[in-house]
Amino acid sequence: MSLATDLRNTLRDKLQQRRVQMLADLRDESISDEGTLAVRSHRGETDDEAVVESMDAVEIASTARDATELAAIDSALQRLDTPDFGICIDCGAEIEPARLLAEPTVLRCTACQQRFEHQHHTPGGARL
Ligand SMILES: [Zn+2]
Repeated sequence: MSLATDLRNTLRDKLQQRRVQMLADLRDESISDEGTLAVRSHRGETDDEAVVESMDAVEIASTARDATELAAIDSALQRLDTPDFGICIDCGAEIEPARLLAEPTVLRCTACQQRFEHQHHTPGGARL
């Protein structure tokens, strides 16, 4: 059974809104004047090299997380019109609509996600 059309439309709206938001955030934080993805360095804000390094590390991690989420949103938008969307990639069961509404980029049903996270010890609760 395929996903109900109104659920699909709701999810598309949510994904597109989030995508616009992510792009705006990335533009503010991480897109250089040349339009390439760059991590803003805190060099120049303090003379303490150790502080600069740790602040830059946080910036890099945050940009990488945003880029990963953006990729997940793009792939969810591409899958949205295929019969695979809303189907757990591990067991083939339908993912609960409430779960999709809470997190449209999820790829697995609750049970498989828990098993996956247990097996992979996903740091920081990243849900992909
Ligand atoms: Zn599953």
